Amino acid sequence: MSAVTDPFSKCRLPGEIEALIAPGVYPFYVPVEERPGGGEAVVGGRRVLMAGSNDYLALSGDPRLKEAGARALRRLGAGNSGSRALNGTLALHQRLEEELAAFLGHEAVMVVSTGYQANLALSALFGPRDLLLADRDIHASLIDAARLGLAPLRRYRHNDLDQLERLLAEADPAAGVLVLTEGMFSVGGDLCDLPGIVKLAERHGARIVLDSAHDLGLLGPGGRGAAEHFGLQPAVDVQTLTFSKCFGTLGGAVAGPGHVIAYLRHSARAALFSASLPPACTAAALAALDVVRTEPERRLAVLSAAERLRSGLAALGFAVPAGGTPTVSLRVGDAMTCCRFWSGLLEEGVLANAMLPPGVPEGRALIRLSVTAAHTAAQVDRILDAVSAVATRLSLPAG
Ligand code: PMP
Repeated sequence: MSAVTDPFSKCRLPGEIEALIAPGVYPFYVPVEERPGGGEAVVGGRRVLMAGSNDYLALSGDPRLKEAGARALRRLGAGNSGSRALNGTLALHQRLEEELAAFLGHEAVMVVSTGYQANLALSALFGPRDLLLADRDIHASLIDAARLGLAPLRRYRHNDLDQLERLLAEADPAAGVLVLTEGMFSVGGDLCDLPGIVKLAERHGARIVLDSAHDLGLLGPGGRGAAEHFGLQPAVDVQTLTFSKCFGTLGGAVAGPGHVIAYLRHSARAALFSASLPPACTAAALAALDVVRTEPERRLAVLSAAERLRSGLAALGFAVPAGGTPTVSLRVGDAMTCCRFWSGLLEEGVLANAMLPPGVPEGRALIRLSVTAAHTAAQVDRILDAVSAVATRLSLPAG
């Protein structure tokens, strides 16, 4: 087969990624060997501080989740071997759906196998006469849902409600308009301007889809997410969720009006044609929901660690956006500097995330740091000391 026609000829790593491998600063697919708990992980035979996890409430290792998951696995097996629609619905799925619907104040919930799938399922809602208006920073899974759906997608600059308003005003009055946003944005850790979005949506008759992947369990007095944080739960039409962050396991869900969820159950191909959430994850998610409902102190613990991290980073001269959330991304410039920063942190005993183009714009690579309810003040200070040492070596932040 000639190199021109071989469909595998495209399978080369981008030059920038290739360039990271030789100097030993490649930051992806780093295997975690053990999770001893207490905000730590074992990497390369060494205990390091985990500063790159979305396990904000530190529930993934919680004995109650592990026990609930193990019991369900022993009773119901390792998997369901089928989709929700056919043989794969468990009574446990239905219990989780009912409990989540009651918790969030939505009429109905559909549980699926990942948060990615929950967003992808929405493509069934995006018809040819609809228009999607999305924040430029929304998660890849919502972009993929838009690509699979039939509605055109227009994007507004991150949290730029003037631009959103212009797009709403320009929309064909016959179009059904959906505004797509995240509650807490996954990369920057900042919040959407939900009060502003709700006002605009009401004025222009648009529906709101809120991806609460990062804020479910974390924000709001009851842990119901960004909508509760802003006191605007009834104004959000559809909410998508994941169990892979605050809920410490795996799985996802779509919450919304009963007829919308019933429609998705029968038309969302991402859910219809894929096997359902295994018993262990379903039971662990139920146990996590119980903890979220009854232990607000976990939210306070992570938000206090977040405050310490944020003020410490600001004191080191980094631009720290407002928001108070446990995730902060530091602008470090080009991809190579970012990876040097990342590997410097690992040498100092801190495992962070490197966010490189094309995930972020060229020249604007980020180090993403996050803390959890398990991090003590002393551990947050160790993260800050590591950042300070590496930043000094790399002369960051640049003026
Ligand atoms: N939405 C957002 C905003 C996310 O950050 C993620 C996970 N990175 C997802 C959806 C997908 O969730 P999951 O990991 O459960 O597939």
